[in-house]
Amino acid sequence: MAGQARGKVTIDVEECKGCGLCVESCPPKCLELAEELSAYGVHPARYTGHDCTGCGICFYCCPEPGAITVYRRIAPPKAAVAAPQGDEHAATL
Ligand code: SF4
Ligand code: SF4
Repeated sequence: MAGQARGKVTIDVEECKGCGLCVESCPPKCLELAEELSAYGVHPARYTGHDCTGCGICFYCCPEPGAITVYRRIAPPKAAVAAPQGDEHAATL
């Protein structure tokens, strides 16, 4: 069973020129070109709706500023770790 997606993307159809670079570059292959044409007469990219990792590769490959927005899921805060008893030496980096 697949885990919860770590990210998601939205694509502005008005900005997308249908070049397909994002589709080719997405590692988990979760982008595709729509069958329908946009107002510009191209097949715009769209998110399939699953498996996005939020890596951002599609964003950096896209030649159209503002066409792709990547969202990353924020990891829940880790549980507080108790300091070891009796250890008064602070770690230095
Ligand atoms: S952020 Fe990464 S995984 Fe998500 S659609 Fe873009 S390239 Fe694919
Ligand atoms: S790389 Fe950008 S312009 Fe090209 S298909 Fe993907 S979203 Fe559209």
